[in-house]
Amino acid sequence: MNVLPKMLFLFQTLQIVDRVECFGKWQKDIMKFVWQGKKPRIKFKILTDAKERGGFALPDLRLYYEAASFCWMKDWFLLENTDVLDLEGFNNAFGWHAYLWYDKVKVHKLFKNHIVRKALFNVWIKYKDLLENKTPRWLSPMEAKASKILNMEGGWAKYCEIIERVGDNWKLKSLEKLKDKVRDWLHYAQIQETFKKDEKIGFQVEKSKLETELLEPKTKVLSRMYNLLLKWNTQDETVKSAMIKWAQDIGHNIMFEDWERLWTTGMKFTACTALKENIMKMIYRWYMTPVKLAEIYHLSDNKCWKCKEAEGTFFHLWWTCPKVKAFWEMIYNELKKVFKYTFHKKPEAFLLGIVGQRVSKKDRTFFLYATTAARILIAKYWKAQELPTLEEWHTQLMDYMELAEMTGRIRDLGEEAVEEDWKKFKDYLQKHYKLYEC
Ligand SMILES: [Zn+2]
Repeated sequence: MNVLPKMLFLFQTLQIVDRVECFGKWQKDIMKFVWQGKKPRIKFKILTDAKERGGFALPDLRLYYEAASFCWMKDWFLLENTDVLDLEGFNNAFGWHAYLWYDKVKVHKLFKNHIVRKALFNVWIKYKDLLENKTPRWLSPMEAKASKILNMEGGWAKYCEIIERVGDNWKLKSLEKLKDKVRDWLHYAQIQETFKKDEKIGFQVEKSKLETELLEPKTKVLSRMYNLLLKWNTQDETVKSAMIKWAQDIGHNIMFEDWERLWTTGMKFTACTALKENIMKMIYRWYMTPVKLAEIYHLSDNKCWKCKEAEGTFFHLWWTCPKVKAFWEMIYNELKKVFKYTFHKKPEAFLLGIVGQRVSKKDRTFFLYATTAARILIAKYWKAQELPTLEEWHTQLMDYMELAEMTGRIRDLGEEAVEEDWKKFKDYLQKHYKLYEC
């Protein structure tokens, strides 16, 4: 453990670890020491994982190096320390944000011809999609589009300061409102142009992890970043890519805590394998789509099987397709009748079982049964044009509730909870559909 402080000092002083292979070698040497020459018995991932997740918290040097790189890059994101920016970017051709966000590295090769910049930039690119999957709040289109000169002033306007919400959309604030942030109408028109492009991938609405763990805090930034990267790196690869895709689809990040809860409690709510299987398939996005089929078989038609109009992506088929939307709206309305209160209709709740606070705790298991039953039915009609009916959902859900009651009785656990859920469901069926009169 005595090695760590010295290495941390090194990483924060010199950002020149150009080849990441050396970390493997260093880590091997440390492992030899830890295991005293014996064969390692515990996976490296578990050794390095945080204690609260069942790990041993052995420092991972590569991650410390990467966390230190982010601390160094903080100036590039914030654009405040103009002396440092001038020193590190003395021969830059564009603004820093043009390199960080708008791919100018490809145009201006000299940027990566600099040993420090190259090493840091590679770390950024590795984590970029994870940390910011929408146009970031800290991004300054003004700085990115400015022609680079030495002694540039600081205080560039960030996106979170220059856009505003109008209805469901984000708009660039008017020239009048931005008059002390833009030079003239021509400059404003330029920014408007950039805004239109950035709008396509959407804007980050809530503060990202990069902001809360790196850009805002004044202290403990290194350990904050280390913990953030560690959480990510101890996840399995397939989980990671699935997590990124889900975040892109639903338009905001799902917090690590929510995923963790999904692994632990979300998967345990049922003993029924059909339900478990569906949850796993949803998380890993297992279902074949017209878009994937068209790619594999080089077909010209990749339209949705339901509406036959939009591109048949995974998220379209499960959520945004007007036909599927109507189905979920129906399920949502029925659930409000069962619970007798309203809550938000969020895709992560209906598709993944990441239930928000608005659904009360005592109703969450029922919510999971109800939505999983609905998804299993959608999957049954996966390639068909039609969707399941309300009656089919009722029957399916009744089957699963019965099964839950039985397994609850056999395993002698949580029977009361199932009984409560049964009662809610029967009351609702009787009241609204005159079912279950006995
Ligand atoms: Zn469709």
